[in-house]
Amino acid sequence: MALRIAQALSSIGKLALAGLIGVSLVAGDAAAQQKQPSPGSAKAIFGGVQLPTQGGPQPFGFYAKGCMTGAEALPTDGPTWQAMRLSRNRRWGNPAMLSFIEQLSRDAARYDGWPGLLIGDISQPRGGPMFNGHASHQIGLDADIWLKPMPSYRMTTDQREALPFTSMLKKDAFLTIDPNVWSAAQARLLVRAASYPEVQRIFVNPAIKKKMCDTWTGDRTNLGKLRPEYGHDAHFHVRLKCPPGAANCKPQAPVAAGDGCDQSLAWWFTPAPWAKPKPPKPDAKPVKPREVMVSDLPKACQAVLDAPAVSSMRAATYGGASAAEALGVAPAAQPAAASDEELPDLGPVPDDKPAAQ
Ligand SMILES: [Zn+2]
Repeated sequence: MALRIAQALSSIGKLALAGLIGVSLVAGDAAAQQKQPSPGSAKAIFGGVQLPTQGGPQPFGFYAKGCMTGAEALPTDGPTWQAMRLSRNRRWGNPAMLSFIEQLSRDAARYDGWPGLLIGDISQPRGGPMFNGHASHQIGLDADIWLKPMPSYRMTTDQREALPFTSMLKKDAFLTIDPNVWSAAQARLLVRAASYPEVQRIFVNPAIKKKMCDTWTGDRTNLGKLRPEYGHDAHFHVRLKCPPGAANCKPQAPVAAGDGCDQSLAWWFTPAPWAKPKPPKPDAKPVKPREVMVSDLPKACQAVLDAPAVSSMRAATYGGASAAEALGVAPAAQPAAASDEELPDLGPVPDDKPAAQ
């Protein structure tokens, strides 16, 4: 397989520069598509909610089309994690996700030499489509985890806003890992994350997937859970299966058998995924993409919006109120910075810049 990818790479070597130019054009188009959601849209409504519902955790719908009740907040600090970009108010998740983060952070520190996790976006307080950024993360079962190791000091709130993302890719080459930032520790962390049975899949940049295919000499049983996707070069995105008993959670088909080091990966190293969309025919009517409304989501999502809120973020923090004290008072939510990450996690949007959340 490595050979086939190598062939694909050499055959498009000449196209690489043109490809990169194409990528930035398409990424620009994507940014243009992500303009301010209108006030009545599901993005604006779910993005404006500050607190989760009371009651037990229930995901409704699919990762990219749904909402949730009973979310809990990941504490800003744990023994082996720090939550980032607190102003975004997106560290809400199904307790199954928060428990997973806790366990991964502990196991990676104990067994993989990974000092701790930097946690990016999980979900909004009641899930739903986000004001900007992701297409998924709507039911509390997706989380972004940085590929940069946690620093040895406890960051202030401001430092958590400002710490730059670190892409694992070389800036001046096509889908190439930068050996100055990538190490065997990142590889161990990814394999560790994929090893838990509750993990459905993990999105990584195609260059990262290829690196894992080419260099991972350990157990490859769960390598197939690492799925190549646009962006995802500064963080990886973990998706959990619907938890047991979550009757309203729509499951995703499992990843194909095998390690995924196959044609589905080689495709990313061809020009196809990076081509500019074809311009519409001159006589075609312009298609204006309709914004997603609450009525487009599962029926329960209107009731989720209407349900009473918990009394405070502190009261709904995973591990109890004492876990919420680590960094003092939780900051008030603000609209997420537009410059942070404008590209969705899924869908045909190439990204040649260091990806973020
Ligand atoms: Zn994500």
